[in-house]
Amino acid sequence: MKKILFFSSLILVLFYNFVFFEKSFAVFKSIPFMISLGVLLFLFIALLQTIFYSKYTFKPFMIYLFITGSLSLYFMQKYGVVIDDKMIQNIFETDISEASDLFNYEVLGYFLVLGLLPSFIIYKLKINYLNIKQTFLFKLKYIPLLLLLIVANVYLFSKAYTSFFREYKPLRYYTNPTYPLYGLGKFIQRKYFIKKLKFKKVGGDAKLLPKEGKPKLFIFVTGEAARADHFSLNGYKRDTNPTLKKDKEITSFKNFYSCGTETAVSVPCMFSPLTRSNYKDSKAKSMSSLIDVLNYAGVRLLWIDNNSDSKGVAVRIKNYKNIKDSCHGECRDFKMLDGLDKFVKTPKTTFIVLHQMGSHGPEYYKRYDKKYEKFKPVCQTNQLNKCTRQSIINAYDNTIVATDAFLTKVKEFLKSHQDKYKVALWYVADHGESLGEKGIYLHGMPYFIAPDAQKHPASIIWFGKDFGISNQQMKKLKDKKLSQDYIFSSILDAMDVNTSIYNKKLDLYKQ
Ligand SMILES: [Zn+2]
Repeated sequence: MKKILFFSSLILVLFYNFVFFEKSFAVFKSIPFMISLGVLLFLFIALLQTIFYSKYTFKPFMIYLFITGSLSLYFMQKYGVVIDDKMIQNIFETDISEASDLFNYEVLGYFLVLGLLPSFIIYKLKINYLNIKQTFLFKLKYIPLLLLLIVANVYLFSKAYTSFFREYKPLRYYTNPTYPLYGLGKFIQRKYFIKKLKFKKVGGDAKLLPKEGKPKLFIFVTGEAARADHFSLNGYKRDTNPTLKKDKEITSFKNFYSCGTETAVSVPCMFSPLTRSNYKDSKAKSMSSLIDVLNYAGVRLLWIDNNSDSKGVAVRIKNYKNIKDSCHGECRDFKMLDGLDKFVKTPKTTFIVLHQMGSHGPEYYKRYDKKYEKFKPVCQTNQLNKCTRQSIINAYDNTIVATDAFLTKVKEFLKSHQDKYKVALWYVADHGESLGEKGIYLHGMPYFIAPDAQKHPASIIWFGKDFGISNQQMKKLKDKKLSQDYIFSSILDAMDVNTSIYNKKLDLYKQ
């Protein structure tokens, strides 16, 4: 049994993955890492076979692997296409005449030699199957062992794997036949199991309370991958806050925690009435966000994005703008301030979100202008394994210097409108970032095992003198354990919006 597993996995790795190795080598140019990738793939296929091992499933599973493997290798090699869930959907939904367009003798050759032949051998093979008890023990022994070997292998090349899994995600699409298998699973799940949730309106009763005097203008800056302990405001030994440190009015929360460890979780969660403990992506995306509730209350809204997008938060409002592609290369965060003067010209209660590019990795060196390059030398590639850890940290710290200047600029903008508005600024980064501690880089680890560096983002708050909330009051909270759960109700309170979904316990100003 073990022999069959060993040889079939080996054959699949060696003969069905030319495209994968070719593409990976072009990026990493390292033979040892290619061997490690081969070993990883081998272990992974062996793991799948072990999981699917039973008298009734083993042969069909293997035949499926060889047949799909042969065809997907052909289409990857000749057409450069990847067999993913959408491609599988195409295969299921296409008709005979369309499919016959792709047929030729070459594909028949691949199918016969790499698909049918090994399938036939598997089919004819006499296997002395283990009985139920033996099968159970076999799986109990080999599944953990294979998992352990996979982890050990990844750990040995952790820097290269970080790049491989994060920056070069598409390389995975060429692993064969594992990716087509994953695609089939995803296709089945999408087609049969995912139900679209109906949109649930919450906070529909939101009303703006009448207040004396000037209207409010609140700017909320959503930061990117800025970890709290790399802000000198929070005690970092390097001076990464050269301008904000001179500002005696602001408060930097030193003990602030994020909802997730990646943008796709943290951003929707920050603006959701849900808290980290009951947050679910599908649920959050199908219910009103903070932006919607402010909208119901009649607050003038604007979301400017210099990152991917609002992650479903600001999709139901009129004033949404993504500036990301409007510059040569990428836009600096400062550009989000262009045209803001005009937007706030007529005084009206206004809430603006600026979603930063901030410290987006791994190419930190691309995130700032030369004048913010305070720490040198800097890592100048997205392949972190080619850089020293210090040069990666240097580049990252420079992004914090740039954010420091950006926040100062936002504050200056608000100050210049104090004659017509009561103004406020709150900066909260979406999550933190790992910078090589224990060999871990970037972010996105499952929350319960993620290091503090990824869960502990920076957050800075400031209120203009007549806003009604004092900076003194905020300073008392600087060491208190806070989290992104506080954003929703604190903003509603600050904007004088009255609604039944407001939660006093999660209001910063009532602490
Ligand atoms: Zn992020």
